[in-house]
Amino acid sequence: MKKRILTIFAHPDDAETMAGGTLLKWAADGHAITLCLITDGDKGTADRNDSPDAVIERRRAEQARAAARLGASILTLSYEDGILQPTLELRRDLVRVMRRVRPDIVVANDPTVWFRHGQYINHPDHRAAGQAAIEALYPAVKKASIFPELLAEGLEPHVVQEVWLGPTDEPDVWVDIADVFDQKIALICEHASQFPPEPTRNAFARIAREAGQERGLALAEAFRTVRLSASTVHALSDAEAHKKGH
Ligand SMILES: [Zn+2]
Repeated sequence: MKKRILTIFAHPDDAETMAGGTLLKWAADGHAITLCLITDGDKGTADRNDSPDAVIERRRAEQARAAARLGASILTLSYEDGILQPTLELRRDLVRVMRRVRPDIVVANDPTVWFRHGQYINHPDHRAAGQAAIEALYPAVKKASIFPELLAEGLEPHVVQEVWLGPTDEPDVWVDIADVFDQKIALICEHASQFPPEPTRNAFARIAREAGQERGLALAEAFRTVRLSASTVHALSDAEAHKKGH
């Protein structure tokens, strides 16, 4: 069955860097992908003479080229880059997006990650985006009584089946990306203002090798996943019954 997949990230390029290989595989399998960008990445320049509008225009063009490789559509919320907070306003906006797109799978940042590889402090926008996505997923997306104004917009509650989070220190799903690794680098490098080809290939090869190590995979993407259901208590009860062999 073809699935609807929604990525929710702070910046252009976050979905591609974190889950590009997995997204390429899903796209090849015919699943429908929507990329939700919370900001336009307007701080993504080292040139002080760059205006935010010029940066946004450049990055939108890059994002469009990357999305074309995935056959994905793009939704932008145009929050300001660099100072994102997991506000109720953002939570409501993400509930609106999820009730519109009605995804089977949501891919987002793991908001519990502060550090990676001993060399990287996770961007606070990534943690804020991940937190806002998770707080939107439960319980607001599936609960009609939260943000009733969305019902007035005709946006009915929806149950997202799976959440895939990364980068993460607690992975439980590994995707072998060896066969799409070159495509992943090409996908990331569509964001040419951010990613020069050679160091990008080396850096993401290292990340993919480290992610695959635990499972004996040469190159992988690793995710922390959550399986949701309409009723958490029923799902937990069924899992318990299943364990006992009933
Ligand atoms: Zn980012």
